[in-house]
Amino acid sequence: MELRVDRERCIGAGMCVLTAPGVFDQDTEDGRVVPLDPTPAPEQEPAVREAVQVCPSGAITILAGD
Ligand code: SF4
Repeated sequence: MELRVDRERCIGAGMCVLTAPGVFDQDTEDGRVVPLDPTPAPEQEPAVREAVQVCPSGAITILAGD
């Protein structure tokens, strides 16, 4: 899986960090998403897909993956 986050679109809601803490973090300055791992391991994929669903701004996109 490969993902992309749009920091311009992110509103810093933090849902992705709660859902997939190994993959996303938040900037301590502006609260916006920081991708920790743009190519998450297979065991992370369910959490990443959930993060895409729960993100209120649509800032997370899955570019490739099963
Ligand atoms: S859930 Fe979406 S809006 Fe919230 S921090 Fe993550 S990417 Fe940003």
